Amino acid sequence: MSQSAHPGTAERPLRAAIVGSGPSGFYAAEALLSRAGLAASIDIFDRLPTPYGLVRGGVAPDHQNIKGVIRIYERIISGPRVRFFGNVKIGRDLQVADLHACYDAVIYAVGNESDQRMRLPGEDLPGCHSATEFVGWYNGHPDFTHLAFDPDVETAAVIGVGNVAMDVARILARDSGELAVTDMARYAVDQLAKVTKLKTIYIIGRRGAAQAAFSPKEIKEIGALKNADLIVGDEQVAGLAGKDAAAEGWDIETKQNVEFLVRKAAEKPAGKPRRIVVRFLVSPVEFLAGPDGRLGAIKLEKNELVPDGKGGMKAKGTGTFETIEAGIAFKAIGYRGVPLPGVPYDERRGTIPSVEGRVVEDPETRKLVPGAYVVGWAKRGPSGLIGTNKTDSIATIESLAADFQPGQTPPAVAKDARAEAMPELLTSRGVRWVSFEDWKRIDEEEVRRGKANGKIREKFVNIQEVLKFLGPA
Ligand code: NAP
Repeated sequence: MSQSAHPGTAERPLRAAIVGSGPSGFYAAEALLSRAGLAASIDIFDRLPTPYGLVRGGVAPDHQNIKGVIRIYERIISGPRVRFFGNVKIGRDLQVADLHACYDAVIYAVGNESDQRMRLPGEDLPGCHSATEFVGWYNGHPDFTHLAFDPDVETAAVIGVGNVAMDVARILARDSGELAVTDMARYAVDQLAKVTKLKTIYIIGRRGAAQAAFSPKEIKEIGALKNADLIVGDEQVAGLAGKDAAAEGWDIETKQNVEFLVRKAAEKPAGKPRRIVVRFLVSPVEFLAGPDGRLGAIKLEKNELVPDGKGGMKAKGTGTFETIEAGIAFKAIGYRGVPLPGVPYDERRGTIPSVEGRVVEDPETRKLVPGAYVVGWAKRGPSGLIGTNKTDSIATIESLAADFQPGQTPPAVAKDARAEAMPELLTSRGVRWVSFEDWKRIDEEEVRRGKANGKIREKFVNIQEVLKFLGPA
């Protein structure tokens, strides 16, 4: 290949596709665009007509400050070297081979669309839900708008003590007036406004207070809710008061969590309408039906902490059980990736297998898929805050840039690297893709509708409705 045809030069910029328009995809685009000595043009794809992934469909509606990162993504996507192709689904509108034909590099930033199962009896009872579904539902994510939730029960339970569990508990606890001004889907605001019976929300952790996965900021916010008291029984923090964090090997977050919970345990509840009750060292072992056939209670086994052999502590059942009432439950025990047609998938981890961000066919053989890369949760699993994706995406782009360095044979070269190749292909297949300009129209309309209802935004919650609003391309 002649030097002038080498992808990444000014005459022949590297053509990159990023599949997924959430944080990891945007940080990959930013890292690639800012790479000195590597000229690139980028097309970002999303199966939804709207960009921003979990920032739009996952971040809680009462956490608008977190959604502020969208301003950074907007700057990236509106740049001259980036295009957006929304409403384009891999496996339906495009195959992986189409991507490799039009792009030198394909970067998967598809996140984790599903969730972990507990594999417990009664897990599929009506009223026993995954947090992923509830979060998608209240955020108006088109995949989940058809679902129904009825939290108008006396007692709810959230399983898991990570930040998703905090989001779910907080949304359940809030007064509906607090939610009515956010960008929460209208139907969810209406449904939650009808909740009158709910008094108790359990948060259930299988390990102890010093192993909780929530951030100090999130548990403190729970402790400061207008509509709910955070109840921490003395026994939940037994033996933790006054412990030396350094001697215990606690990081700063663990130290802050423990200190806060110990302080809370000493406080008297203010008698607010709802209570969020923290229960540590218990694991659900069965979801039990009530007389109406819906979830009525959860059988819990008390746990003790034992060394996990990796320097940490794990939960071990003690054989002592108790049953708590719960008319609805949300499992917030972690997300999980789903396979993408034609893309390698690590069944065990629920991720796309990779070595230093380069996709491999199989985690065992580590045989590289030329020109394929992965970032974000699809690469490392569902951990970290939004900003964690930045360093992770930069690392993958380091690998990509090394592969496409001038003077060496690139791992892959697009057969048709013309900018028009993708629009032509999609048009020939009758795909109505959503451009960035289209998205701006959607965005303006959502804000306009929101304003009319005293809200930040009223989202389109249905793909057909978005396409009807946009009209033909
Ligand atoms: P997470 O942080 O991994 O927490 C999962 C929780 O579920 C842990 O408490 C875990 O306990 C528990 N769990 C897992 N399997 C279980 C089982 N079989 N039985 C009982 N409990 C089980 O996951 P996440 O809450 O889904 O959050 C995902 C990522 O998004 C995290 O990095 C989180 O910080 C981030 N996030 C951030 C925000 C925010 O900043 N506001 C909001 C939402 C999410 P063990 O520790 O014992 O495994």
